[in-house]
Amino acid sequence: MLRFQKYVCPETPREAYDLLREDRLATVVGGMMWLRLADRTAPLGIDLSRCGLDRIEETEDAFRIGAMVTLGQLERHEAFSAATGGVFAEAVRDIVGTQFRNLATVGGSVFSRMGFSDVVCALLALDTEVELVGAGTMPIIPFVERGAGRDVLTHVVVRKHAYRAAFASVRNAATDFSALNVAAACWRGSWHVTVGARPKKAQLLTGGERTPLRERFSPAELDAVCAFAESLDFGSDLRATAEWRRSVTPALIRRAIEAASAKEAAAC
Ligand SMILES: Cc1cc2nc3c(=O)[nH]c(=O)nc-3n(C[C@H](O)[C@H](O)[C@H](O)COP(=O)(O)OP(=O)(O)OC[C@H]3O[C@@H](n4cnc5c(N)ncnc54)[C@H](O)[C@@H]3O)c2cc1C
Repeated sequence: MLRFQKYVCPETPREAYDLLREDRLATVVGGMMWLRLADRTAPLGIDLSRCGLDRIEETEDAFRIGAMVTLGQLERHEAFSAATGGVFAEAVRDIVGTQFRNLATVGGSVFSRMGFSDVVCALLALDTEVELVGAGTMPIIPFVERGAGRDVLTHVVVRKHAYRAAFASVRNAATDFSALNVAAACWRGSWHVTVGARPKKAQLLTGGERTPLRERFSPAELDAVCAFAESLDFGSDLRATAEWRRSVTPALIRRAIEAASAKEAAAC
């Protein structure tokens, strides 16, 4: 069981950040679904639940999602789902169960950058930025690749585009972690494909500054992307071997792209 010697509920993210900086052993508390698995005593717990980070704001060009928004809240947000091809709901629907998703947070999921994360895999394929007290605003790609220091993640911002997007994963059993996951999103004329649970962190395969895959790709171009995917750095763990992951990835990429292509582009 995780115990805290002292537990505080600051009123602002800046206050939370200052407390975090003052004590190098302090722990930020999101939904606490992951943290609670630890068996240790931490000197200070900094609970973000009073920092006003539990809202999803829609502006003309983006959705600004507070770090304490739960996976369930975002999964059920109709405007967000319609604007992003339902990819987030597809990514999270097999995570444990409804009650769990009503507690685990978007901020805790993104900040911890877990290799198996379906949340990170889906958000990486969209035009996403993260806002932190400390490091400021940055695209999600360098954040996932390099992480941040002892910062407080306050928001995840998903920019609006005419997305077509879908998520595909393989689980050995319902509600288990993904043994492999893929998200594909078409926006600004090209496909953004991410591959996660390798079991390393999700990585962008096409789009952005990576190998381009244009919206109306030829069969040969898709074949080339699938061949390139086989060269990713795969590993083995108790869910799957590297060989299995390498051989299944191309099929999962094709499945995600096919599912996304069959959808109407989001209005934006
Ligand atoms: C049994 C179980 C099964 C799961 N299955 C899946 C799955 O299939 N797919 C999937 O994608 N995920 C899965 N997860 C992960 C889950 O969805 C959440 O990502 C995870 O619980 C972290 O979210 P949280 O809100 O509980 O964070 P917490 O447990 O509160 O925190 C996690 C870490 O992030 C830090 N942190 C939290 N919020 C912030 C913030 N705003 N700023 C800075 N640091 C912060 C904490 O200090 C801690 O280090 C699973 C988790 C569990 C426990």
